[in-house]
Amino acid sequence: MSVLSKPYFHDETEAFKFVEGIIWPQGPHCFHCGAVDRLTSVTANPEKRIRHGLYRCGHCKGQFTVRMGTIFEESKLPMTKWLQAIYLMCSSKKGVSAHQLGRTLEVTYKTAWFLAHRIREAMRSGELAPFGQGGGAVEVDETFIGREPDVPVKRAFHHKLKVLTLVDRETRQARSVVVDDLRPETLGPILAANIAKEARLMTDEARVYGKLGRDYAEHATVNHQRDEYVSRTDPTIYTNTVEGYFSIFKRGMKGVYQHCGKKHLHRYLAEFDFRYSNRIALGVDDERRTVHALHGVVGKRLTYRSTDERKAAQG
Ligand SMILES: [Zn+2]
Repeated sequence: MSVLSKPYFHDETEAFKFVEGIIWPQGPHCFHCGAVDRLTSVTANPEKRIRHGLYRCGHCKGQFTVRMGTIFEESKLPMTKWLQAIYLMCSSKKGVSAHQLGRTLEVTYKTAWFLAHRIREAMRSGELAPFGQGGGAVEVDETFIGREPDVPVKRAFHHKLKVLTLVDRETRQARSVVVDDLRPETLGPILAANIAKEARLMTDEARVYGKLGRDYAEHATVNHQRDEYVSRTDPTIYTNTVEGYFSIFKRGMKGVYQHCGKKHLHRYLAEFDFRYSNRIALGVDDERRTVHALHGVVGKRLTYRSTDERKAAQG
């Protein structure tokens, strides 16, 4: 028996049961009126076509499935394929390209592209507790990737897309944000929203952090320019964890996602954050990671209606 032989990857009824168990741990509730009783399972609609997971509410007479209000709602793709796609994206360390996903699931590239972006949206964390609560260490660093649209290639990183990543060293969680620039006015609010005041902030010696660091209980720096990667005076001062995150991210983006525009970068980052924060070293195996991703499908419906994004899917 392999993981891939699980019934919910092949049998639509089993797939619905699996997803319902995660989204409705207390049993089904009516999507329209919220009722939890007088709900009956409807196996066929009037045209006698089997509708998997269809329920009818005795209160409001409405019909609903577990797909409603989730990323699954707008797609006609079978739930088994959704689950296969989520599993693939959760189990490969560097991610899966839309081309690969399309070939494996036997769907078109365009379908695979939409699917992957919806799954990334499910991986995106919602409102979260700040990092460094209780005085833990939070490493912050930035990296550069790709090309900023309409910015001429000049010096250093000005023409590249900029990513700011925060890693909570105690809980081993990562959070990444695409930023337009590295000015204190830009980075300050992001740090304030995501890092507790009592945290120990760890950065490199970049000037922007000098001022921002004063808002936290401690601000320690390592001087990369002087080849210092772990502080010589205090071995708990380093930014190696966030640098490790960047190395996984860069390898993934280079190998799997060659062309990523600015407007999609945040979704790829959500995917890398998700896998990093739910990784095997933290005791999260592929299957549990898949279940975690499924917890995120509710309320994350995406509507890719704009022509721009459709063009991007084809390009
Ligand atoms: Zn109802």
